[in-house]
Amino acid sequence: MRLSRCFLPVMKESPSDAQIVSHKLMLRAGLVRQTAAGIYAWLPIGWRVLQKIGQIVREEQDRAGAIEMLMPTLQSADLWRQSGRYDAYGPEMLRIKDRHDRDMLYGPTNEEMITDLFRGDVKSYRDLPRTLYHIQWKFRDEVRPRFGVMRGREFLMKDAYSFDIDEAGARNSYYTQLLAYLRTFQRLGIRAVPMKAASGPIGGDLSHEFIVLAPTGESEVFYDAAFEEFDWAQEALSYDDADGLKALFEKVSTTYSATDETHDEARWAEVSPDRRREGRGIEVGHIFYFGDKYSASMGLKVSGPDGSMVTPQMGSYGIGVSRLVGAIIEASHDENGIVWPETVAPWKVGLVTMRGDDEASVQAAEDIYKKLTAAGIEVLYDDRDERGGVKLGSMDLIGLPWQLVIGPRGLAQGVVELKCRRTGEKVELSIDSALERLT
Ligand code: ATP
Ligand code: MG
Ligand code: MG
Ligand code: MG
Repeated sequence: MRLSRCFLPVMKESPSDAQIVSHKLMLRAGLVRQTAAGIYAWLPIGWRVLQKIGQIVREEQDRAGAIEMLMPTLQSADLWRQSGRYDAYGPEMLRIKDRHDRDMLYGPTNEEMITDLFRGDVKSYRDLPRTLYHIQWKFRDEVRPRFGVMRGREFLMKDAYSFDIDEAGARNSYYTQLLAYLRTFQRLGIRAVPMKAASGPIGGDLSHEFIVLAPTGESEVFYDAAFEEFDWAQEALSYDDADGLKALFEKVSTTYSATDETHDEARWAEVSPDRRREGRGIEVGHIFYFGDKYSASMGLKVSGPDGSMVTPQMGSYGIGVSRLVGAIIEASHDENGIVWPETVAPWKVGLVTMRGDDEASVQAAEDIYKKLTAAGIEVLYDDRDERGGVKLGSMDLIGLPWQLVIGPRGLAQGVVELKCRRTGEKVELSIDSALERLT
């Protein structure tokens, strides 16, 4: 992408309406713009990050055997009357009337709709277990939308729903999602600690929240340092291994972690003091097992192996895809700007000419841009008519993992500079070795 042709409005000053660093940086680096309270337009760079995060979430859901689909954002109130949540949900639900005066709503979540879809088409235990998911916009009319996309009113969520014939099956589905979440967050380059949660309005008895540490987080958290050492991606654990998944759940459950809501001073005292980690955190995911709460109230039944009718056991599993953009920035930035983990960076390389009026530099940059692009490497080429220092400042702010900088003096000696955004380390290399490093 050539910066001169992109829509990437970078701001020099820190916007005064943003309170936390991720919100400030998202505005300054041109990721989002607010269009109404808690509602955001995703500008090209923000949209690229949002899609990268969504894609990692998708790949890990697929690996875990969940099946992707897409449900609409608008729902009929009648469905929610059947579960009893139409009245119970309260003012967070955006209620709408269509031209025929029918009650509609903009979905804050999809338990009712997926249960209705299942009810229509699934008749036998042979069609279970199933876990279906979608990545779709939600609306919750938050009392206080704030911190940018972290607490928006419209936001993007991955929500999955599992259906099993009995509790043992449902627990296995829950453990499967637990592992998928641990792997997802690790790939996103953040440490999200699973914490036992009170299950709240969705109901049910088994529930974990996934919390990213950040000083601006809304809840207080306590956990054993062991959570900083686990490597879930490497763990040789198969989704087909039910005993292994159960053991994973037990390991997670017996290693201390809690939010202020579930914190237990007596158990905390048993954690050795040098392993106690305390801080504030951001909820980026939440998984629930809630049994037959929706299947029973909405009359979903399948025929069991012996011919009798059985009410399936369900769970639901959310990840705040758009909130993650802010949460990742909270966890990964410095005084100059964003520092993207390589897996979610909008582009891998930023290409900069220090002197846009130097013929040789421009030619070298054009050539490198073509070669990297042909090799499938995502490059943002700053070909704007700006001073070198300004371009470098923008690159630091935008936070791409690598900066390839071309200056007339180096070029005369056949070298360019490659900078690692995270460490700040710079090396001078021939163009060929720089290309080799990046491909
Ligand atoms: P919170 O406690 O922050 O209000 P929640 O517990 O109400 O979140 P869930 O119903 O568990 O949210 O939804 C699943 C995920 O959706 C959350 O873990 C969070 O990452 C994301 N999410 C929820 N509300 C918002 C919001 N207003 N803006 C952005 N993401 C959100
Ligand atoms: Mg909420
Ligand atoms: Mg919550
Ligand atoms: Mg929650």
